Amino acid sequence: MSINIKKILHQHNLKHTKQREAILKVLAKQKAPISVEELYDLLRQQAQTMNLSTLYRSVETFSEHGIIEKIFSSITNTNLIQLQSRHHQHYLVCINCHKMIPIDYCPMDELLGYIESNFHFKVIDHQLEISGYCDTCQP
Ligand SMILES: [Zn+2]
Ligand SMILES: [Zn+2]
Repeated sequence: MSINIKKILHQHNLKHTKQREAILKVLAKQKAPISVEELYDLLRQQAQTMNLSTLYRSVETFSEHGIIEKIFSSITNTNLIQLQSRHHQHYLVCINCHKMIPIDYCPMDELLGYIESNFHFKVIDHQLEISGYCDTCQP
């Protein structure tokens, strides 16, 4: 995903700093959500000096502005973050290595009409995680 970081920060009235730029750059490269700790490790590999509490604060700011979204994985019991996705996605979660594989298929679209007409229920959101073993972890 290629994103214009300067433009995003400007749109949200956030000051452009090297650290903020580095955080968003790393997140833009991820294909699946990661934890703040993983993000911290990736930043350190790039010799970005920032402490974990600063990183948590930045993540919080980005989250308040809707630049990143927080995801809770009930399968691995972890809090994860990713750039706010422009399209809706679900994940296959490996219960061994905790890898998350994004899938573009959403079965909910077909269910929505059924739910709304039979239960008179207005669906606004849903979550779906599928657990199992990834290619490398299959016994
Ligand atoms: Zn695996
Ligand atoms: Zn869906």
